[in-house]
Amino acid sequence: MKQEPVKSKRKNKVIASIAVASLLAGGAYEVNTLSAEPVGEKDCEPVSSTGNGLPDPNTITVQVDALPASALLTWRQKGGTINDASCLDRTSVHGIVEVKSAEDVANAITYAKQNRLKISMAGARHSMGGQAFYRNALVLDMTKFNKMSLDEENMILTVESGATWHDIQSFLHPKYAVKAMQSTDIFTVGGSISVNAHGMDHQAGSVGGTIRSMHVMLADGTIVEVSREQNPELFELVVGGYGLFGVILDVNIDIVNNDVYKTERRILSYQDFPRIFENDILPNENLGLFYGHLSTARSSLLDEMILYEYTRVDIGEADVPPLGEVSGIGLRRFVFNFSKLGRIPMDIKWLAEKYVEPKMESCTVVPRTQAMSEGEACLVSRNEPMHDSVPYLRNNLKKETDILHEYFIPREQFIPFVDGLRRVIQERDVNLLNASVRVIHPEDNFLNYAPGEMFSIVLYINQPVTAEGSGKMAEVTRELIDLTIDLNGRFFLPYQLYYTPEQLERSYPEIGEFFAAKDVYDPEGIFTNTFYEKYSRLVSKE
Ligand SMILES: Cc1cc2nc3c(=O)[nH]c(=O)nc-3n(C[C@H](O)[C@H](O)[C@H](O)COP(=O)(O)OP(=O)(O)OC[C@H]3O[C@@H](n4cnc5c(N)ncnc54)[C@H](O)[C@@H]3O)c2cc1C
Repeated sequence: MKQEPVKSKRKNKVIASIAVASLLAGGAYEVNTLSAEPVGEKDCEPVSSTGNGLPDPNTITVQVDALPASALLTWRQKGGTINDASCLDRTSVHGIVEVKSAEDVANAITYAKQNRLKISMAGARHSMGGQAFYRNALVLDMTKFNKMSLDEENMILTVESGATWHDIQSFLHPKYAVKAMQSTDIFTVGGSISVNAHGMDHQAGSVGGTIRSMHVMLADGTIVEVSREQNPELFELVVGGYGLFGVILDVNIDIVNNDVYKTERRILSYQDFPRIFENDILPNENLGLFYGHLSTARSSLLDEMILYEYTRVDIGEADVPPLGEVSGIGLRRFVFNFSKLGRIPMDIKWLAEKYVEPKMESCTVVPRTQAMSEGEACLVSRNEPMHDSVPYLRNNLKKETDILHEYFIPREQFIPFVDGLRRVIQERDVNLLNASVRVIHPEDNFLNYAPGEMFSIVLYINQPVTAEGSGKMAEVTRELIDLTIDLNGRFFLPYQLYYTPEQLERSYPEIGEFFAAKDVYDPEGIFTNTFYEKYSRLVSKE
């Protein structure tokens, strides 16, 4: 039976008061539009063919031949277009087929070879530069390839690559939890491995570090086991390999206990953060999850900072309720979309995060023995903050979209980076919606975004769906990449393809070797995506 969240009455009162305040503040704005649940996937009108080097989406109509291999495929769509979470990358494809088994993947490879097609794999399509598809390619929709099983003794989950972290958490709860994933749970395991994703567990590191082994289907249809011991070179290429070396089938990943955490937050200046991090956060082994938010309010832009801390506590036996979904979605969506409208709405959003959200927090874990309880502490299990599908970020607003950026900065360069970032945001009048700070450790995969100890700064930026909007976003992206490279940092690749080939080579000196290795493992170039097609011809493979 689903338990009523503790403090729900107080929470309802708080929700009601923010709703009233927001309604008043919103005034004439279309409250309904800003808070409306979207119908289907957002698919904006194309604005420019220059940004990602994408085709004119209206030019191609595909006739799928009635070849024998075609009949073996489960077509979700023949011809038509596909898009990603940016909504800016509508691309014509040969078709989309559903994958439910390794045999489906093998049949798709056979069909692609018979028809001289290329293949792209798509998970939740939350990469934002066409990394999960390519013009006229056959797209494998991996999202129904999602069975899983648990080896409790060795704390290993075996999972097919189309499963989302949301599915996995529901499977593992209440005893176990995911070790490393993004800060939200909507992504597939295959998509997460292919970008080497990272998130709130600042000690665990990235997803790649939690993989024991995986099965990968290569372009010739063979299935190989890859791990740090078996086929280690292929392992390093597939992790963060953007689906270019093979189709990840199933994976053995480490899991952890679903520990109980006491939640805390503190507000400070960004200038104090590196010191507090070194002295307080880093040495605290009981800190299970940690991240920061920098202010997006114009009055304290990228100066004020909220740290979110989840400290492991031993409270003996406790009632851990079933996992619920995020509450107050309509209101959250409204506050978020309203904040895009200018200085005052953005200030309201930051104030709400500072003062109202703590009061809305669901403190769900109840110790069985009061003597063992943490007094008035707010307790949650690890799965709860990680079980957020961010439905409030989805919207119906077809004339604007929100684009992610992420920059990896050596820890000692945090303050200069934030100062440079603030300058760009102010000079360019960028509509910055969120700025998060995460902790990144050195990675050992081939296309490595973190050669040393880094902080990552994740930005969520709003733009109009117009050629000017995308043009400005492209310029801002290149400026921020220059800033990052000057400070010996790197930028994250699953986002818009606005960077120059020179910026790619400076940020990832190994990119030429990475593309050369692709030629070895997939000589016919069966597996592809828009990122590869755009840049592999522009950088030297030496
Ligand atoms: C709102 C938002 C929040 C985000 N937060 C974070 C975050 O906290 N941390 C972080 O690290 N990243 C974050 N990202 C980026 C995200 O992790 C990546 O875009 C990730 O790839 C998304 O997974 P997906 O299932 O959507 O993959 P897709 O976008 O579908 O695919 C990504 C890549 O993986 C390949 N791929 C997919 N499945 C397979 C497979 N089975 N075998 C081989 N290749 C495959 C695709 O071809 C593509 O190249 C965020 C993105 C958004 C839009």
